[in-house]
Amino acid sequence: MAVALIALFVVYAISDMISVDADAHTQPVIIEQNKQIDIPSVPLMSFSEEGLVGSEQMIHQTVTVEKGQTLSGIFTDLGLSQALLLKIAHFNDDSKKLVKVMPGNDLHFTLSADGELRQLRYQSSKFEELIIHNDMNQLSTELITHDQEIRLVSAQGTINNSLFGAGKAAGLTDSMVMQLANIFSWDIDFVLEIRAGDSFSLIYEQIYKAGDYMGEGKILAASFTNQGTTYEAVYYETENGEGSYYAADGRAMKKAFLRAPLNFSYISSNFNPKRIHPITNRVKAHRGIDYRAPTGTPVYAAGAGRVTQAGYNKYNGNYVFIQHPNGIVTKYLHFSKKAVKKGQRVKQGQTIGYVGSTGLSTAPHLHYEFIYNGVHRNPRTVQLPKSKPLPDQVMPDFLTYSKPLLSQLSDLKTLLVAQQ
Ligand SMILES: [Zn+2]
Repeated sequence: MAVALIALFVVYAISDMISVDADAHTQPVIIEQNKQIDIPSVPLMSFSEEGLVGSEQMIHQTVTVEKGQTLSGIFTDLGLSQALLLKIAHFNDDSKKLVKVMPGNDLHFTLSADGELRQLRYQSSKFEELIIHNDMNQLSTELITHDQEIRLVSAQGTINNSLFGAGKAAGLTDSMVMQLANIFSWDIDFVLEIRAGDSFSLIYEQIYKAGDYMGEGKILAASFTNQGTTYEAVYYETENGEGSYYAADGRAMKKAFLRAPLNFSYISSNFNPKRIHPITNRVKAHRGIDYRAPTGTPVYAAGAGRVTQAGYNKYNGNYVFIQHPNGIVTKYLHFSKKAVKKGQRVKQGQTIGYVGSTGLSTAPHLHYEFIYNGVHRNPRTVQLPKSKPLPDQVMPDFLTYSKPLLSQLSDLKTLLVAQQ
């Protein structure tokens, strides 16, 4: 519930901003300014057993560690003893982090008027600050984790040539494009079904610390329109803290079978406009789908199951068959190399082999078959059982949480149409 409340706040906070700049593809918006932890560098008061005794003059010294400089040398320069350094280095696990100091790091010393160390602060990692206190020769440490500042950013785009191209135009990194595609990988075949005119919009996190960009976070909500059908997904964490993507009706995006059982990024990078047009559907002719892909492209188990065959013959080349629950079998042919053995259990998305051109094959490709109760089906169109919805008791919370996000997405879509 707390998660949902924060997110709600977030969404209302950005709702005003998103319409402000219709020209920009991305609109960075600070939605939740996590409280910045201010480390008081000047402890004005000192304490005694009687309590507050008044202000004391302190000396502050920041040392930027230079190449070749040692902690020992720095302590000596400041008139601090080697015994104290040793004591700190061995005091506890936190204080040991001081030893890892690198050239370029800043050490902030606070000394008493008579030159005794009172405090030493050191940024021990991107998000962590170590503070060593020395009061009356009593050491204590504090490890402060700086809260990150999460900014929500929106992006939207339309595919002309390739998904990655459209992603780039929308200001997305390739890994964010992959993250986006992975959300919809149970509904959309990103190898064969992407068409010019397909579009997407998303709201995702950017992580900042003290104003510095640290990297991208996760996608909170996304929509993808593929050949006129729009799919939407919202990231939602259930009570146990596990986050996953759900459709607007609360059903998991994750389903029993992936639409395309291979890593499309190997293929999409070579997109050209011609390839976006529908390929000849040869499903009837040879009972499978051919994915042309470079040799070595990882091929995934479309669903969880057990490997019933992993072998070689002159027609199939290197091949793997997987038996799934409910009478479903999937077959994968012409591998350059298999990555599983007969009898092995596999998870969905597990690499079972690599694209090749072994057996009766003229060019590197994956031949993929989907068989239900002994009958070949078109894996791209076969109706699969729907995934389970969220439990009834969390549905109200999910709906409250997802509604404003989804309406943001549709605003973005409107914006996209307006731009065209
Ligand atoms: Zn084939």
